[in-house]
Amino acid sequence: MSGIVVVGSANIDQVFRVERIPSPGETVLSHGLSTALGGKGQNQAVAAARAGAATVFIGAVGDDAFGEQVRSGLSDDGIDVSLLRTVAMPTGTALIAVDGTGENIIIVEPGANGQVTALTSADAAAISEASALVMQLEIPLDTVVEAARIARAAGTRVILNAAPIQELPEALIETLDVLIVNEHEAAELARDNGLDAEPEGVGQRLLALTPTVVVTLGAEGASLHRVGAEPVLVPAHRVTAVDATGAGDTFCGAFAAAVVEGMLPDDALRFAGAAASISVENHGAVPSIPVREAIETRLK
Ligand code: ATP
Repeated sequence: MSGIVVVGSANIDQVFRVERIPSPGETVLSHGLSTALGGKGQNQAVAAARAGAATVFIGAVGDDAFGEQVRSGLSDDGIDVSLLRTVAMPTGTALIAVDGTGENIIIVEPGANGQVTALTSADAAAISEASALVMQLEIPLDTVVEAARIARAAGTRVILNAAPIQELPEALIETLDVLIVNEHEAAELARDNGLDAEPEGVGQRLLALTPTVVVTLGAEGASLHRVGAEPVLVPAHRVTAVDATGAGDTFCGAFAAAVVEGMLPDDALRFAGAAASISVENHGAVPSIPVREAIETRLK
């Protein structure tokens, strides 16, 4: 068994810099437009590949120029896109307006991401042969459940980043090996499952759902919770943060890469934290994801 399969979303982020966020009915001029690759699935696949894992991406793009941009971007990072579908829909697009204070409004058109359905026998074979399946919740939930079921049956580890948070069906929860959530998602998930949602100790309580839980804590770092073990807190590297977009995705992809490589969970947490700390020092999601060498340098 080798490598990682990511089943998830791919977007193009269009970021407009504006002086102020427009009110309804108002038009404002933008002072700069940048277009970047994004979407949690794509971000995590790139993070895993740059961290050194052989990575396959299963998702969907539209039959448009953005779709081509996503496909070639993933390929440039050495990611296998042979199972990436092209469908007669627009590629997933996020329209983001950011003002001078960092305030933003975001509109997301899921587009082709909504068409990641009906996994094929080739998808199932790739999932079954992988060491880990990595997923998020930006594609239809039925597909996430189906991919997890295939992985579970084949002995492939299932790593779920439960973002954006939504209620998880029992059929998904029972397949999970690792759940990665931020503090907000942890509380929401605890509440949904009848557990105490107080931030203190919520990672431990989520062990009622899955054998390993990682809670990311922003600039505080991340905590690791395992059944039968004491929780471990790995503080974040102290850095000058300029843009936290994609920090969580960088963390998840790097963590998965470390796990399939055989690192102990504590070391995988340190590796992922180092990767994420580099991503917050730079702008954008995919552009800020570090390569292996940079992560190792940070860990020295
Ligand atoms: P996002 O949605 O912005 O991608 P998230 O809410 O999913 O992020 P966070 O908990 O904010 O996830 O961050 C993920 C990881 O990134 C943290 O566990 C930490 O390792 C790293 N990180 C985030 N912010 C900082 C920071 N200011 N300094 C250093 N590391 C950071």
